[in-house]
Amino acid sequence: MSPAAQASAVRELDVAIVGAGFAGLYLVYLLRQRGFKVRAYEAGGDVGGTWYWNRYPGCRVDIVSMEYSYEFSEELQQEWQWSEKYATQPELLRYAQHVAERFDLRRDIQFNTRISSATFNDASGRWLVATDSGEQVSAQFVILATGILSAPNLPPFDGLESFTGDFYHTGQWPHEPVDFSGQRVAVVGTGSSGSQSLPLIAAQAEQLTVFQRTANYVIPAYNETLQPEAVAAIKRDYPQRRQASKLFPFAFSFETTGKSVFEFTPEQREQIYEAAWARGGLMFMGVFSDLLLDPAANATAQAFFRRKLDSIVSNPLTAEMLTPDFALGCKRLVVGTDFYETFNRPNVELVSIKHTPIERITPDGLVVAGKEYKVDAIVFATGFDANSGPILRMDIRGRNGLALRDKWSGGASCYLGLMPAGFPNLFTITGPGSPSALSNVLKSIEQHVDYIADCLDSMRSNGQRLIEADEQAEQAWALHVDAIAAQTVFKSCNSWYLGSNIPGKPRVISAYIGWPEYAEELAQIAADDYRGFRFTAA
Ligand code: NAP
Repeated sequence: MSPAAQASAVRELDVAIVGAGFAGLYLVYLLRQRGFKVRAYEAGGDVGGTWYWNRYPGCRVDIVSMEYSYEFSEELQQEWQWSEKYATQPELLRYAQHVAERFDLRRDIQFNTRISSATFNDASGRWLVATDSGEQVSAQFVILATGILSAPNLPPFDGLESFTGDFYHTGQWPHEPVDFSGQRVAVVGTGSSGSQSLPLIAAQAEQLTVFQRTANYVIPAYNETLQPEAVAAIKRDYPQRRQASKLFPFAFSFETTGKSVFEFTPEQREQIYEAAWARGGLMFMGVFSDLLLDPAANATAQAFFRRKLDSIVSNPLTAEMLTPDFALGCKRLVVGTDFYETFNRPNVELVSIKHTPIERITPDGLVVAGKEYKVDAIVFATGFDANSGPILRMDIRGRNGLALRDKWSGGASCYLGLMPAGFPNLFTITGPGSPSALSNVLKSIEQHVDYIADCLDSMRSNGQRLIEADEQAEQAWALHVDAIAAQTVFKSCNSWYLGSNIPGKPRVISAYIGWPEYAEELAQIAADDYRGFRFTAA
């Protein structure tokens, strides 16, 4: 076939997968094993998703690697050796590459290919998927494995194009190491990406100026090299441990009193908080059962945190500026190393842009409150248009030409976080309304992929051609997701969980707070003949 004919030929698939991060890889593996003709389309030059793009200094996972990893293959989980408690980005990328090679997945993945649109044909019941290079694919099913945090948000700062130095977004970091030696560097943003990277940048640069809009809670990681005996002990009964971890809220194990803050005296609380701080990590917020539910309980954690911060940061004014003013856990806690200590360095300055935003960027730096901060490089750690962001960067059209952008103009919603009504045979992995970021996302990915694979199997054996979510079931699920969130601290501040980090984005909670009940509920729904879905026979 000539190249032109090849370009115009429509490839026929059972399943078109968008993305080859951890979700896309497992989809290719499992669906291929089940006999479906699949192909994944990946914008990046290799597998790994998040861990392919986020190469900024200090980037590492915030859930322990022995749990933030696949369990679908016993051989894989036995042979892979994590070197640190929280793996670094290069190690996570090597893991994704290893999985791709071990299971020969690359032959069904097309790299450097962005999906631009997907259109459902009502007459044929198939999707027509188009790539950015004009290639067309016809598929019975489309599965969006686009990730939660894969659409970088670079706010449109005035004058950015005039800046004469280099600038970077943490989520689109160059593949070559960046050397800040001898440079004056600005970091904008103090979420996980900014907070993880700035201690390393400060150690290298001549001067670091941190522009902070909202102070965040940064809990020490206490990262460490994994000891072979400890790893061997876990691997001896890995499957049982994985099962036990999945019974925890958020799908990974953590230490908790399991009791209310108010069941303890102030002295006991202090000891419990001290021990949780000494362990470090994300689940500081789970040490008492009511921290995420009761503002009064949460206030005790905030007060403890403030005392800790004051004991680390030597300049009281800087400590004041670094003190968060919202409920602990509302924004994702940052798991960091030497974050607060970094502000004691003589070459680090903190500039609050809470009340005086960045006015503009000049050829030489950034202007705040009329003052120009001259820098050689700017690191934008300004986050992502999360969850629905990467999905809506594609033009997706369902029944009767309905655009997903229009359907979601008031906020993203999927029945069970799996499928938007009006879009037959279109699944999302860790999509809006599923536990996604409020869970160990590797476990959520495996649960979704297993579930969808079983559903496709069942449709094939029952001679069903289409599955679609019922509109009312979707609405009821959205109300349920919101009602659960309303009982927690998660709606009490602005965060990317709510989409409120993106100007103009509807403020809707994107994650379902309810693991492990979520997985149980989905299993029950499947047992009830996929209650809330409609099927069309072939
Ligand atoms: P983020 O948490 O959304 O933080 C973005 C930062 O940029 C915030 O401090 C934000 O301030 C600031 N910002 C945004 N727009 C701004 C503007 N126009 N002017 C000034 N400041 C602005 O994003 P992230 O740090 O990339 O992290 C996102 C998520 O990715 C994390 O919560 C986590 O789930 C994941 N992540 C995890 C790790 C890890 O430890 N494993 C590392 C990196 C990322 P406001 O708070 O005021 O909006």
